[in-house]
Amino acid sequence: MSELKHTEEKSLNFIEEIITEDLGSSKYKTIATRFPPEPNGYLHIGHAKSICLNFGLAAKFGGKTNLRFDDTNPVTEETEYVDSIKADIQWLGFKWAEELYASDYFEQLYEFAVKLIKKGLAYVDDSSSEKIAEMKGTPTSPGSESPFRNRGVEENLQLFADMRAGKYKDGERVLRAKIDMASPNMHMRDPVMYRIKHAHHHRTGDKWCIYPMYDFAHGQSDSIEKITHSVCTLEFIPHRPLYDWYIQQLEIFPSHQYEFARLNLTYTVMSKRKLLQLVNEKHVTSWDDPRMPTISGFRRRGFTPESIRDFCDRIGVAKRDNLIDVSLLEFCVREHLNKIASRRMVVFDPLKVIITNWPAEKLEMVNVENNPEDPAGGTREVPFTSELYIEQEDFMENPSKKYFRLAPGQMVRLKSAYIIKCDEVVKDADGKIKEVRCSYLPESKSGADTSGISVKGTLHWVSAAHGIPIEIRLYDRLFKIEDPSNAEGDFKDYINPDSLNAIQNAVAEPALGKSRFDDRYQFLRKGYFCMDKDSSEEKLIFNRTVTLKDTWAKEQKKA
Ligand code: ATP
Ligand code: MG
Repeated sequence: MSELKHTEEKSLNFIEEIITEDLGSSKYKTIATRFPPEPNGYLHIGHAKSICLNFGLAAKFGGKTNLRFDDTNPVTEETEYVDSIKADIQWLGFKWAEELYASDYFEQLYEFAVKLIKKGLAYVDDSSSEKIAEMKGTPTSPGSESPFRNRGVEENLQLFADMRAGKYKDGERVLRAKIDMASPNMHMRDPVMYRIKHAHHHRTGDKWCIYPMYDFAHGQSDSIEKITHSVCTLEFIPHRPLYDWYIQQLEIFPSHQYEFARLNLTYTVMSKRKLLQLVNEKHVTSWDDPRMPTISGFRRRGFTPESIRDFCDRIGVAKRDNLIDVSLLEFCVREHLNKIASRRMVVFDPLKVIITNWPAEKLEMVNVENNPEDPAGGTREVPFTSELYIEQEDFMENPSKKYFRLAPGQMVRLKSAYIIKCDEVVKDADGKIKEVRCSYLPESKSGADTSGISVKGTLHWVSAAHGIPIEIRLYDRLFKIEDPSNAEGDFKDYINPDSLNAIQNAVAEPALGKSRFDDRYQFLRKGYFCMDKDSSEEKLIFNRTVTLKDTWAKEQKKA
């Protein structure tokens, strides 16, 4: 309910304003949008923005959204990517109306091209790609016309059919639209419509050896599907006249293109090409490495679909490119996890504590709330015994004045259990602290404390006999600087060599042994965590999704 109110109160973004107008003026009865990924990599958080926008518009205005794979480039596309894209969209919580492929329209697109040839608006050019580039001119000087530009319709039809039939090698001929070689818009200078590529396509196999260019496929596919509002990112603004020109000349359904700013995030890169390099060159383990800005990376790291949708909602729909601070995304996931995560105690760097006045064989099960923020979260039993672990950093032999944790003669509370007092420090032959011997106050049990003593420090702890060994993976930014894509030199020069810190000998309370991958945890005083897919029967592995507080920004300021 409060979520709904949140969106209702917000003013409309510029695309919503356009749609409101279009529906009000009865330009359209209902709207249709599409999400058009090229299956040449895994989706990243920028795509999540586009998904939330396209599916969100349809949901808000009662229309539909198609999932259309823009699979017109056979060389880079794979079925693995198609499957991952579908899984990611579903995980984000969206349902497409139809699953479609630009390659399903290859025959129709071919017919469209024939129609333009017949109208005298397209021609086969025998020039080499270098020659075509040279004739293109520059943004400040007009291009020149190809010597093949004025071929007759019949000849063009025959040559185009021969191209399709496989009579020519890659690059020997192209089909071009006949528009205007002097246009100030470079995209209008007789753009290539079809190129020859003798390549196997992940869906059409070897049926085709000519493939349409993006510009001759995208708008036409929109039109075939009767997409009313075709939303894309700003770099397509100069393509819009060509988008409109094809639709007008073909006299087909008038889809319209609208552009918004790409999402860029600090301390990462946001292009499939660059992300693929990180995977191929083994800077990360895989597309779903928890350090990757991919949807699958965020999922594995423990982000929730709710938190990503919330983030996309908060950043809004901009008309100018910008760089969003990744700490906003972290804020969103922290907000959500605080509400849903079960609290658990895990000691990362164990120090043994012996409770000398607790009988060695005595076991008390302490009943602890799973989540104080969630009354329906239930409780769990945590074993308390005479031998416990606390964090090494929670004990100091010679503490400073403001140190409120455990120290000789000092008292602390063990979370949800008892107050203990440190009586003795036991060292090994090398003088290293082996264990700390304490006594507990029997009348200080949490919830029934009659001791009258108040202490400042509360520590998390794990029973030594019951604790299970786990591995913890702590992640830092993948890049050392805010905007590696726009920095001098290669973006990979800025990779943070310490983005993964694995802790091998952490000890967790036994309840963590029953974890499932979907479970979300807050490890007390440590942050939010989830189980990683590398976990095995022998060893459970947990990823830190995010720290409890945004300590990172503060640390940077200090440094
Ligand atoms: P990349 O450069 O990462 O490969 P792309 O734009 O080539 O991205 P596509 O698969 O063609 O990737 O994109 C599918 C849709 O997602 C397009 O409509 C595109 O505009 C949108 N999109 C891609 N990146 C972003 C981004 N960073 N922010 C918002 N939308 C994006
Ligand atoms: Mg693309």
